[in-house]
Amino acid sequence: MTFSLPVAALAPTATANVPATVVGMGSASPEALSAAWASVQPQLEKVFGSADYAAWLAPLKVMSATGGQLVLSAPTAFITQWVESHYTAHLQAMLETELQASVSLKIHVAPQFTQPLTAAKPALAGGPALLPETAVPAQVTESAEAQPEWMQGLKLDSRYTFDFFVTGKSNQFAFAAAQGVAKAVQDGKPAFNPFFLHGGVGLGKTHLMHAIGHAVAATKPNINILYLSSEQFLYKFIRALKNKDTLGFKEAFRNVDILMIDDIQFIAGKDSTQEEFFHTFNTLVQEGKQIVLTADRSPHELPNIEDRLKSRLGSGLTVEVHAPEEETRLAILQAKAESLNFDMPSSVLQLLATHIASNVRELEGALNRIVAYARLTGEPMTPDMAREQLRDLFRVYNRVITIDDIQQKVASQFNIRVADMHSPRRAREVARPRQVAMYLAKQLTSRSYPDIGRAFGGRDHTTVIHACETITALLPRDAQLAEQVDMVTRTLQGR
Ligand code: ADP
Ligand code: MG
Repeated sequence: MTFSLPVAALAPTATANVPATVVGMGSASPEALSAAWASVQPQLEKVFGSADYAAWLAPLKVMSATGGQLVLSAPTAFITQWVESHYTAHLQAMLETELQASVSLKIHVAPQFTQPLTAAKPALAGGPALLPETAVPAQVTESAEAQPEWMQGLKLDSRYTFDFFVTGKSNQFAFAAAQGVAKAVQDGKPAFNPFFLHGGVGLGKTHLMHAIGHAVAATKPNINILYLSSEQFLYKFIRALKNKDTLGFKEAFRNVDILMIDDIQFIAGKDSTQEEFFHTFNTLVQEGKQIVLTADRSPHELPNIEDRLKSRLGSGLTVEVHAPEEETRLAILQAKAESLNFDMPSSVLQLLATHIASNVRELEGALNRIVAYARLTGEPMTPDMAREQLRDLFRVYNRVITIDDIQQKVASQFNIRVADMHSPRRAREVARPRQVAMYLAKQLTSRSYPDIGRAFGGRDHTTVIHACETITALLPRDAQLAEQVDMVTRTLQGR
C-alpha cells in the first residue's frame, strides 16, 4: 500500500492545542476517530501481516476518543508497551491519512487488567509486574533542541544493536555489510552510498539500520543521525512545499551526517517528492554524508519510481535480507529467551522454530506472548501450553497435513507416480521430488526423521536428513524448484 498525503490534507487549520508534530492539520471528531479506527483494521492486517495483527493489534479496543485524541486499551501491559514501541507511529500515520486530520494516540492497559499481580496463579491478568525490560525505546542520538522541530526524526531503538542481531546463512551478508557501512562512517569515509537493505517484513532491516546508528554514535557521540520513516519524509517535504520552503528543507538536511529512511517503498508514486528526494539525495552524497535506506523490495522492483531514481537508489550497495532458516530461527529464539531472562525448555523453542517460519517478528511475538502468559499464570512452559496460547499463530498448521497428502501433491506437481515415493528407484526424476516430499514432511508435519523415513519405503533417517539439507540448499539457488515447492505448500495449507 502507499500512504497518500495530498497537499490538501495540510490545509491551514492548525489550532493551538494540536500537538507540534501535526501542526497544519485539523483534528477529528470523536465519532470520526472511532470510525477511522474501525476502517483501518483491514489495512493494518495487510500491512503488518495477519499473525502480528492477531497477536498485538486485534486485542486493542477503543477506550475513548476526544479532541483529536484516540485512547486505546490493551489487555496487558506487555501488549501496551509492545504496541507503543512498534506500532504507534504507523497507527498514527494511517489514522491521519484516513482522517486527513491530526491524531494523537494513547494506549493504556484496560482498567480491568490493571490490578497488580498477587503471588502465584491468579487468573489471567496483565499488570505492571511483568513489564519487559526490552521494550523501552532508547533516548539515543537525538539532539532535539539543536534542530528545527520538523527535522526531528524517530528515536533509535536501544535493543536494535549489532550485538543483539543473530546471524545465520540468511542474513550474515547483510549483517557484515551493515557493519562495513558503520565502520566506514566511523572512519570518516562514508562508502556504499546509499546502503540499500531490502527484504520481507520482519526480517531485521530496521534492526540493522538502527544498529548502524548505534555503532556510529558509540564512537562519534556528536554525529547527527536523522532517522525517518518514509511517511515522515513525505510529510516533512509536503509541508515544506506548502510553506514554499524547499530550500530550507534542503538546507536542514545539510547538518545531517547520516540520513536513514525506513521503508522507502512508501515513497513510490509521489512525483514531486521523488524529484526532491533525488536532489536531496545527490546533495548529501556529494557532501560525503551516508545514506541508509530500507524497502520491502530491491530498487529496480519498486513500483512507480522513476528509472533515474531507481538506478540512483541501486548505485551504492544493495543487500537482501532473507528469511532465516530453522537453525537461525532457533538461535534467535534462544537469544530472545535469554534476554527475557526466561528459562525456556528446548522442546518449546524447537516447536516455535519449526512452526513459525515466516519472519522473525512473528517468532519474537510468539515467544513474548507465551513468556508473558507463563509469567502471569505461573503455568509451566510446555509444548502443549505454547500450542494452546499460540493457536492463532499456528492456525495454518492446524489443518492436519499428513505425509500421504504431501506425497500425493508432490507426485502430481512433479508428474511422477505416488508409488515412486516408496520405490527404491534412484533416477533423478523421481529422487528429487521424493526429496522435496521428505523436506515438506519435515516442514509441515511434526513427524520425526525416522518416522518420515519409514513412510518413504522404509528409508533410513539419515536419508531424510540428507534430503532436507539438499532441498534447503537448493531452494535459494533454484527459482523453479522454489516455485514448485511453494505451490505444493500452498495447496497443502489450503492457502
Ligand atoms: P523489518 O524492518 O525487516 O520489517 P525488523 O528489523 O523490525 O524487521 O525486525 C523485526 C523484529 O525481529 C525486531 O524486533 C528485530 O529485533 C527482530 N529481529 C529480526 N532479525 C533478527 C535477528 N537476526 N536477530 C535478532 N533479532 C532479529
Ligand atoms: Mg522495518
